[in-house]
Amino acid sequence: MRKKIIAGNWKMHKTQAEALEFLSVLKLNLANTTEKADIVLCVPFTLLSLLSKSLHGGNIHLGAQNIHWANEGAFTGEISGSMLVDLNANYVIVGHSERRQYFGETDKIVNEKVIAAQYHKIKPILCVGETKKQRDAGEVEKVIVKQLEQSLVNVDQGNLVIAYEPIWAIGTGETCNVLEANRIIGIIREQVTNKGITIQYGGSVTPKNISEIMTQPNIDGVLVGGASLNPLSFSEIINY
Ligand code: PEP
Repeated sequence: MRKKIIAGNWKMHKTQAEALEFLSVLKLNLANTTEKADIVLCVPFTLLSLLSKSLHGGNIHLGAQNIHWANEGAFTGEISGSMLVDLNANYVIVGHSERRQYFGETDKIVNEKVIAAQYHKIKPILCVGETKKQRDAGEVEKVIVKQLEQSLVNVDQGNLVIAYEPIWAIGTGETCNVLEANRIIGIIREQVTNKGITIQYGGSVTPKNISEIMTQPNIDGVLVGGASLNPLSFSEIINY
C-alpha cells in the first residue's frame, strides 16, 4: 500500500502569531477518525522552529519550501540541509514551479537539491509539471519525462515524494481534470524505478474537489497551496 500524503505549501505567508493561530484551529477541526494520510506543513523557514515545538509528534510533519545544494559556504541568503535538520524539517519541496519561474531553477539545480535533501535524510517533494503552452502543444508527456530524467540522476528513489503540478492549475482555480491527472501520474509511475513512491497531485485543490481527486487510483495525495492557508479549508481537505 502506497503512503498517502496531504501537504500544504504556505509559500511566503504567515507571521509567527498567525501560524500558531492556524495550528490551534487546525487541531480543533481534525477528525478523530483513523488517519487516511500523513499531513505535512511546508512553511517559511522563519516558522520551522516555532512550529516544531508546537506540533508534539502526531501525524503532522514539518517541511520547508527550499534547500540549498551545498552543506555550507558563501551563499548569502540561502539555507542548507543541516540547518533544516536543526529546525526539525522532515520534508522539503524542491523544484516548485515558482522557484523554476522566478528564481531560475533548472532541472540540474533541482537534481542537486534533491540529492542534498536526501543526504540530510530530509524527504524531498519533487515538483514536476507542464505550462499551458506545453499542454496545448501536446508536449505534456515529453516535458514530464525530461524533468524526471534530469531531476532523478543519482537519486535514491526510496526516499522521495513526487508531486505532479500542472503549472496552469497552480493558484488559478482551474483544476486539472481528475482522470487526466490520474493518467499523467500513471505515466510518472512508469518512469520511476521504485513503484511504491507517493505521487501527489497539486493545482487548485479545494475542499470541494478533494474527494474526487483522492478516489483516483494513481493519486496518492495532494500538495495544496491557497487552500492550506485557512485552517478550516485545510482541515476539510484532510478530513475528506
Ligand atoms: C502549489 O503552490 O503547489 C499549489 C498547488 O497551489 P494552489 O493549491 O494554490 O494551486
